[in-house]
Amino acid sequence: MIPLDEARRYVLAGCHPRPGVETPLSRCLGLVTAAGAVAGEAVPSFANTAMDGYAVRAADVASAPVTLRVVGTVRAGMSGVDSPVGPGEAARIMTGAPVPPGADAIVRVELTEGAPDSDSVIVRAAVPEGNHVRPVGDDVEPGDHVVGVGAVLTPGHLGLLATVGVRALKVVPRPRVGVISTGDELVDDGAPLGPGQIRDSNRLTLLSLVAESGFEAVDLGLVRDDEDAIEAALRGGVARCDALVTSGGVSMGDFDFVKVVLDRIGDMRWMQIAIKPAKPLAFGTVTRASDGTPVPIFGLPGNPVSSMVSFELFCRPGLRRLAGHGDADLDRPAVLGIVDEQLDRRPDGKIHFARVACRYDGATGTYRVRSAGAQGSHHMAAMAAADALAELPDGDALEVGSTVRVRPLRP
Ligand code: AMP
Ligand code: MG
Repeated sequence: MIPLDEARRYVLAGCHPRPGVETPLSRCLGLVTAAGAVAGEAVPSFANTAMDGYAVRAADVASAPVTLRVVGTVRAGMSGVDSPVGPGEAARIMTGAPVPPGADAIVRVELTEGAPDSDSVIVRAAVPEGNHVRPVGDDVEPGDHVVGVGAVLTPGHLGLLATVGVRALKVVPRPRVGVISTGDELVDDGAPLGPGQIRDSNRLTLLSLVAESGFEAVDLGLVRDDEDAIEAALRGGVARCDALVTSGGVSMGDFDFVKVVLDRIGDMRWMQIAIKPAKPLAFGTVTRASDGTPVPIFGLPGNPVSSMVSFELFCRPGLRRLAGHGDADLDRPAVLGIVDEQLDRRPDGKIHFARVACRYDGATGTYRVRSAGAQGSHHMAAMAAADALAELPDGDALEVGSTVRVRPLRP
């Protein structure tokens, strides 16, 4: 058995960020930038008002209350040059409209008296020069770096980029991840089960994990334990996808043909990792014939809980690397929890990932941890009920009140 850290390092070393592609902003949410962006224009590009009210000369209203002559109305979208403000004058102005020439302050409408169609206004309060005026470049100056390389694009970033007129950006494309189930015992047509048959659940689970992680999930189907069929599915997947995730067929059984085929067509390492569940893992690459790209292949164990735990520990971080995420941003952040109900285990040289319910207790400011149910690697009910994996170090049970590291299973 090899330590978890060694297996992780091996997997991550085989996952490289894909080259950046110029992409319209509307398709960039959540993607990682492969190039930065520099503002080519100031924001705001003209001085404008933050309030509805009157554009005035601050010197005129210093002795408020004063009556000013209204020279016009400036609305958002107008240039304002038709309503220059001279001494003793004011222009009615709406939020976002340019401050007209001659004016140097805004008095908000609440501090004035006068009908909207009147040609005069009483200003009841003095305001300083620049009052409620948003100056040119107040937000962004030309030449400012608005987003750097390696940023994970948020709605805020996209808004900022749109503000400065950027329409497309070079980003690392969303990885396309193919998912294959293997096994003669599996059925997926909803029919009553024949002797020895089980339903294929892993494919739906893994496709969902891929999609939930923000990648493009490609269903590559259910493949029989047949060498030719498995080779055809793998080669087809490598041609279409940036990575493949298979489940089943990587154990020591006589019909584990995924292992046989990948050994022949790929550069694979077969690992037995000191963890429970998800001890076996195959990882390596198969070279895409058309362009020579090494495509990472994750050969996950078939047991449903094992395949999910393996996805958490190896696939998501590896795939996030393909998507350009930095080393500090590969895993969901773990928290420390307090054990509320003894978590059983025995010493066996492995780290155990127990399926737990983890709840934040606002009164004490702590995360409280309990088992989510039966802990076998086939016990999907507890996996479905769990919202986290508790990392139980090698040794004996964790008693009530002890501290345990917890990895959330959901974003
Ligand atoms: P294997 O790794 O092929 O030896 O499979 C280990 C266990 O996982 C066996 O009990 C399989 O029946 C089960 N298994 C394999 N693939 C799937 C799947 N796609 N859905 C549900 N169970 C599976
Ligand atoms: Mg099998």
